[in-house]
Amino acid sequence: MEKIQESLANKQIDKDSHTDKIIPMFCPVCEFIMGNSLDHDCYIEFSCCQACTMKFAAPRRDDWKNGWRPSAPEIKDHKLAISSQSPSFILD
Ligand SMILES: [Zn+2]
Repeated sequence: MEKIQESLANKQIDKDSHTDKIIPMFCPVCEFIMGNSLDHDCYIEFSCCQACTMKFAAPRRDDWKNGWRPSAPEIKDHKLAISSQSPSFILD
């Protein structure tokens, strides 16, 4: 029992030493999988994947930080563009 508590305590310390932002499996904007470290870096900065950062967040950094997000048709076009550029991103 003591050992279990000890390992739980250590896990807590490990968790606290990492970034406080939990990176989801999928981008909340385009819903594609966020598979690589660039996506993770972009998520920490902009809360979206690298493709969304390049397309939407970086060009409108201030708006993005203030909560602006692309419209549904813009996201749809963006997803089509990602799909045509990176077939490996397609899951189904
Ligand atoms: Zn995205």
